[in-house]
Amino acid sequence: MAAGRTIYIAGAGIAGMTLALALAKFGATVVVLERNPRVQEVGAGLQISPNARRVLNQLGLDKAITARSFEPQAIDVYPYRASRPVVSLELGAVMHQRYGVPYAVMHRADLADALYRACKRFAISTCCSASAASTRPARRTRAPAGRRAEGTCARRRPRTARRPALQGR
Ligand SMILES: Cc1cc2nc3c(=O)[nH]c(=O)nc-3n(C[C@H](O)[C@H](O)[C@H](O)COP(=O)(O)OP(=O)(O)OC[C@H]3O[C@@H](n4cnc5c(N)ncnc54)[C@H](O)[C@@H]3O)c2cc1C
Repeated sequence: MAAGRTIYIAGAGIAGMTLALALAKFGATVVVLERNPRVQEVGAGLQISPNARRVLNQLGLDKAITARSFEPQAIDVYPYRASRPVVSLELGAVMHQRYGVPYAVMHRADLADALYRACKRFAISTCCSASAASTRPARRTRAPAGRRAEGTCARRRPRTARRPALQGR
């Protein structure tokens, strides 16, 4: 369904870049519009559950995530001021046995960086300082030209998208 189409995605966040990779894998030409001047991820740690990890692995990120993440052995849940956990959720080997992939924790910026690099390898255009603004709910999404662009957007400035960025057929 995606093959041969050009799809605009609003936002180079973790979800936006993951979607971009998945669509590119199915043959779409993908342009990611990011309103910030550069791709950045704020915040600290991110838990990557096995279902998310499977998807990211299928997009070729297994090595990059393994290199920059760690596998906690358990999550202990403490009631306020208690010295003993009320419950301990086993992770580590249990996750491998049950799901075949790890439960990992990594810094958000590291995942964003790995996704961004993968997008570049797939020749996905990431246009920074470019906002996608919906003018009408169902009909049209406007993508004003970016003041600064990265990737192939440096040559192909984003124009008004005929098809709404997040409302593909
Ligand atoms: C405290 C907290 C902890 C969390 N912990 C986890 C966790 O452990 N594991 C997990 O899987 N998930 C976690 N989540 C959820 C996860 O962070 C989000 O699901 C994920 O970051 C969403 O990614 P996103 O790309 O949709 O949005 P964002 O990361 O918010 O990115 C949106 C991007 O779009 C850009 N943008 C917005 N509007 C426009 C526009 N009109 N035009 C162009 N660009 C635009 C923004 O500048 C931004 O770069 C957590 C969330 C929070 C708040």
